[in-house]
Amino acid sequence: MISREHLIEMAKTYGTPLYIYQREKIEGQYKKLTNAFKQTPTRFFYACKALSNINVLKIIQKLGAGLDTVSINEVHLGLKAGFAPQQILFTPNCVHFSEIEQAKELGVHINIDNISILEQFGNTYGDSYPIMVRLNPHIMAGGNLKISTGHIDSKFGISIHQLRHIERIVKTTKLNVEGLHMHTGSEIKDVNVFLQGLEIMLDLATHFPNIKYLDLGSGFKVPYAPDEKATDVDLLGQKMHETLVAFKKETGKELEIWFEPGKYLVSESGYFIARVNTVKQTPATVFAGIDTGFNHLIRPMFYESYHHIINLSNPKGVERIYTVVGNLCETDTFCWDRVLNEVREGDYLMFKNAGAYGFEMASSFNSRMRPAEILFSKGKHHLIRKRETLDDLLTNQVEVL
Ligand SMILES: *Cc1c(COP(=O)(O)O)cnc(C)c1O
Repeated sequence: MISREHLIEMAKTYGTPLYIYQREKIEGQYKKLTNAFKQTPTRFFYACKALSNINVLKIIQKLGAGLDTVSINEVHLGLKAGFAPQQILFTPNCVHFSEIEQAKELGVHINIDNISILEQFGNTYGDSYPIMVRLNPHIMAGGNLKISTGHIDSKFGISIHQLRHIERIVKTTKLNVEGLHMHTGSEIKDVNVFLQGLEIMLDLATHFPNIKYLDLGSGFKVPYAPDEKATDVDLLGQKMHETLVAFKKETGKELEIWFEPGKYLVSESGYFIARVNTVKQTPATVFAGIDTGFNHLIRPMFYESYHHIINLSNPKGVERIYTVVGNLCETDTFCWDRVLNEVREGDYLMFKNAGAYGFEMASSFNSRMRPAEILFSKGKHHLIRKRETLDDLLTNQVEVL
């Protein structure tokens, strides 16, 4: 946790709204994960769609983790940050075959999640380039349909009911399937959901003789609300170890386990600070209107996510009830009925858990500039992305009139 004094100092130095990431927290979360799974051969690929600032990628690379990417541009960013191609995993969805071919040229691991692409890849490359296949096990994970990806209506993965079809393509084109992948959603607290997934994957693995690893995606939960708990990764690591030992006894096979944590590594490292422009009493509520909106932090509006908010500049103020809203000409409610230390115009409000899917989902809606990003480490702060300017809003516009 960064101290209140440091947060306020950065808000004053760089202005608001402002994203701040604490390097030590990212490193600590990575240690927790690797420690929990140390009994099993495990590889971690950071899902960089959560937060892709090149400095964050470099921190992750230095830790020895790999990178999970979902667009060819993320692959390029990863290479630029110093990841070797074999440390990068390309897990796209509904992209054109040419994008898969570009990833192949770059030499990264390729995860195919569509029968049509599987066929095209097999017909074009046969067994010359190993791949992994993304399966949809149809298990409902996490409870929130918007962030669950393994259910029947999901567009992700190839249904496990199409296993016969996958096998036909593999046999006909001689595809070398060296890994199976599933990613059933985000924020899965129940360790049993992961174990259920693992059991399904182990069953499926027996259908593919070249299998070397099973990629269980992500879904590691971190606490957002004060009463929430993280996924018990130590328990999961222990149970997984037991399952894999039993599998080895039975089949003689030892499989590597891969994970793709996004939120788990960066969510809690991030702080988002905004300033209160107006406090507005209406017949229904007291609005605290801040200098940002869903253009900079969309999770509360998009997923109904809870972000804990703290009034940084009035920590001893009497507690009152507020509805925190943004300054967009659009309904942009961060939360209703939130108890905060008395909010005054000019106060700084801080959102916790802002590292994952915060800046990354920002836009310039209402022609407002995207915020600056700061890396905080060992008590020092470094600007790692400048705040946008009016020129940035015009950069790619072509004036023809
Ligand atoms: C988004 C995503 C992740 C990361 O999910 P988190 O909930 O941020 O940990 C991992 N794998 C894939 C394929 C993803 O799309």
